[in-house]
Amino acid sequence: MTIGKALTIAGSDCGGGAGIQADLKTFQERDVFGMSVITVLTAQNTLGVHGVFPQTLEAIEGQMDAIFQDMGANAVKTGMLFSEEIINLVADKLVQYEVKNVVVDPVMIAKGGAPLLQKQAMNALKTKLLPLATVITPNIPEACEILGFSSIDTLEEMKDAASALQKLGPRFVVLKGGHLEDENEAIDVLFDGESFHYFAAKRIKTIHTHGTGCTFAAAITAELAKGQDIRAAVTTAKNFIQAAIEQSLCIGKGIGPTRHSA
Ligand code: PLP
Repeated sequence: MTIGKALTIAGSDCGGGAGIQADLKTFQERDVFGMSVITVLTAQNTLGVHGVFPQTLEAIEGQMDAIFQDMGANAVKTGMLFSEEIINLVADKLVQYEVKNVVVDPVMIAKGGAPLLQKQAMNALKTKLLPLATVITPNIPEACEILGFSSIDTLEEMKDAASALQKLGPRFVVLKGGHLEDENEAIDVLFDGESFHYFAAKRIKTIHTHGTGCTFAAAITAELAKGQDIRAAVTTAKNFIQAAIEQSLCIGKGIGPTRHSA
């Protein structure tokens, strides 16, 4: 029996809501074989990130070599990479192993405010990783950081930002509109270099959204690993994350995780 293989290269959230743990749960739900390369350990719960422990470059390289010299992956997702050195290593390895279907979730700041990417790593993210991406999945604050925009407040400005991001090298851009001030809807914009596609869903009023970005990008990765095209992958991922937020969990005392199932 064959099955799509999906790899996440990301940080561990010991609390199980985001990062590697969210990705692997999502891969399982979307029926692909999930693998992981852990870049950073975080000590984390629903109240916040309490510790960040980057793994050595040797450990990260060893994990990537182990996977690509044997199993390979039909699609790869990158999440929390934290430092310039880790980004450079991961980018070099993606080139070395000629990885297709790279989903880059440009993780920068946790919902609780903890930095998940060092400031000095931004240039490596832009110049080394984004050009390798099949698709990038920034939210509005992340898009502003990458582009140096002070704000993105309207759908028209989201389109301008998606187009500017695509010029940095990724094949596709999915700009997530959850941070836009709209009472009723959360609209994501997909730009393929020529046209825009929109994915709208009813806004759900809940604080329990820990790990939504990871889960959404992981669902896209799973669908690409199965051979779906980008529009089908984003459609499935949007439905998946909508259901996950609708069923989000009051686990812990802070921002609870979504339920990684649909
Ligand atoms: N921890 C890790 C390891 C992550 O990769 C991420 C997000 O990408 C987070 C925490 C932040 O999750 P959230 O901002 O959804 O709470």
